[in-house]
Amino acid sequence: MRSLILSDIHGNLEALEAVLASARVDEGRYDAVWNLGDVVGYGGSPNEVTSIIRERATAHVRGNHDKVCCGNESGLGFNPIARQAAQWTNQSLTEENRAWLRHLPQGPVVIEPFSSVIVHGSPLHEDTYIVNMRDAWAPLQQMEQQMTFFGHTHIQCGFAWKNGAWTEFRPRYATSADAEQWTLDLAENTRYLLNPGSVGQPRDGDWRAAYAVLDSEANTVIYHRIPYDLARAQGRILMAELPERLAARLRDGR
Ligand code: ZN
Repeated sequence: MRSLILSDIHGNLEALEAVLASARVDEGRYDAVWNLGDVVGYGGSPNEVTSIIRERATAHVRGNHDKVCCGNESGLGFNPIARQAAQWTNQSLTEENRAWLRHLPQGPVVIEPFSSVIVHGSPLHEDTYIVNMRDAWAPLQQMEQQMTFFGHTHIQCGFAWKNGAWTEFRPRYATSADAEQWTLDLAENTRYLLNPGSVGQPRDGDWRAAYAVLDSEANTVIYHRIPYDLARAQGRILMAELPERLAARLRDGR
């Protein structure tokens, strides 16, 4: 069985469309599509991406931006730029999309047939960041499933743990311009915490949209990076009179 794993789309329609085309989602290649949260916030196309994810994804968890943008939480914990974007997103969302975001489930969500769990930040708390092995260690001890997929940091990476030995890795790519992929072969009796990276606002220095594919028969997770129409996504942010920084940072992958 194959699952397409998407996180942190952040209202970036051009990046999401490029990912869906590159993953060839229309060809019935997937048994599942997982949304790890932050569908909206920052980007200029909140309704378009929400409508696509509502239709395509088969399992969801809510992200911290989803909660603020739909009005479930105040944006007091956000920096001024994120708060401004959340207010604009809230005003731009249709009633239907806002209501859908309000009812997104809190992670962790267990997906039995794949021996997987999906969360936004950490299995311990939905808003906690997993950046390094220190953050990953406790969740790795407590996991009952082989794999947990998480987002929130916008950094494509992974942590593996087996009998007290651990590894931390980031996919390695040859370029920063073309479509590329990097394969992780899953080992037996090993637990994994895996971040597919951010579709719509990568922060690992690589501007390309990020996603991952789990193949439970081949026992692999394939990480992907794919170029998208950056200028168009930036234009939507600027035309919406969102902060310029939100358009500029997409170029740098920061
Ligand atoms: Zn995010």
